[in-house]
Amino acid sequence: MARIVMKFGGTSVADVARIKNVARRVKREVDSGHEVAVVVSAMAGVTNQLVAWVSETCRLHDAREYDTVVASGEQVTSGLLALALQDIGVSARSWLGWQLPVHTDGVHGKARIKTIDTDEVIKRFADQQVAIMAGFQGLGPDGRITTLGRGGSDTSAVALAAAVQADRCDIFTDVDGVYTSDPRIVTKARKLDKITYEEMLELASQGAKVLQTRSVELAMNHRVRVQVLSSFVDAPGTLVVDEDEIVEKEVVSGIAYSRDEAKITLVRVPDRPGVAAAIFGPLADAAINVDMIVQNVSDDTKTTDLTFTVGKADLARAVHVIEEARSQLNFKEVRPDPDVVKVSVIGVGMRSHAGVAQRMFSTLASKNINIQVISTSEIKVSVLIAEEYLELALRALHTAYGLDAA
Ligand code: ADP
Ligand code: ASP
Ligand code: MG
Repeated sequence: MARIVMKFGGTSVADVARIKNVARRVKREVDSGHEVAVVVSAMAGVTNQLVAWVSETCRLHDAREYDTVVASGEQVTSGLLALALQDIGVSARSWLGWQLPVHTDGVHGKARIKTIDTDEVIKRFADQQVAIMAGFQGLGPDGRITTLGRGGSDTSAVALAAAVQADRCDIFTDVDGVYTSDPRIVTKARKLDKITYEEMLELASQGAKVLQTRSVELAMNHRVRVQVLSSFVDAPGTLVVDEDEIVEKEVVSGIAYSRDEAKITLVRVPDRPGVAAAIFGPLADAAINVDMIVQNVSDDTKTTDLTFTVGKADLARAVHVIEEARSQLNFKEVRPDPDVVKVSVIGVGMRSHAGVAQRMFSTLASKNINIQVISTSEIKVSVLIAEEYLELALRALHTAYGLDAA
């Protein structure tokens, strides 16, 4: 007998027929004698609709009311799944985040889970009842509903699995595992049987939305065995594991991309101490995250061009903050560019292999794709390129690193 947390994403619960399919899948595990708790997302497209309604109602919204609205999608699916299970003879009950409760911090819109009161869930295991927890939501210190950021049901599931010390956390989605790159763009992408926590963390944080970054962080810290698999086909998925469980380490095991990037270039900034602090200080004060940075000394050696990236949603605000500091910074021009994407190659094998970055640069050069900014970490190389080349770049790199499926 095992204790399992099963999480079903939006496409898996997209309509009543699919919810019934999920119920049958859950019943199978219950019938095998396992202790099962379930976490559900909202029906596919519902959260987008809710977010759109908030934006339509009010441009600068109150984040607490935003959470009240967008958390509602998961309430529907948790109740429907409980009904579908009861209908096939499985004892089940739904729980909203505030009911258990799932305690979070007070950062509405992207709250972090602090603790989960698991007493009720554990009691249900003993009674062979399936507890269904609405994902993506919790209860803030202000006594109000919080949400965990887009894709947050993955994090709800892993946090619950950690809290009840589950043997497994199965994340059911619309693909049958983690691939070497997004299978929707790279048709030759290969399914991985296993991936290390560290690589999965980089893949997720560099844009592969198959798992929310925070869920991988939690899984890594609490050693939760996560499996990503399809709710539509009956086959093993991808296990996220420790590095020592992988015998043959690929140099590059995955390629991720993020469209959520925007570039800002400050032209002819005076090249003197303190300038970077003067630019990035006000951005940090405005809670704008800066990701990649590159600085070029210009011909006259007295000024420099500085380029950096921010999230697309922060572009207008970032330009405004920079313009406000214009008199102090003394630059000639600020050039925003939203039409960029970040492509990252990731692999733990990079630690012991040279030439990974060079292969990336030469591959992109051979396709005439200009690299605008570069950043690296121990197991990752990222480049910023024009958005129009995204698909070409992904496919070319996938082939160049020998990742294509046979
Ligand atoms: P869910 O609604 O089940 O949470 P998501 O849409 O959040 O599903 O995540 C699944 C999607 O992630 C897939 O449909 C796929 O397009 C995308 N994806 C991006 N990168 C990868 C990858 N490396 N492997 C698998 N899927 C990926
Ligand atoms: N429904 C939420 C979203 O669409 C949470 C999730 O699906 O994980 O972002
Ligand atoms: Mg998701």
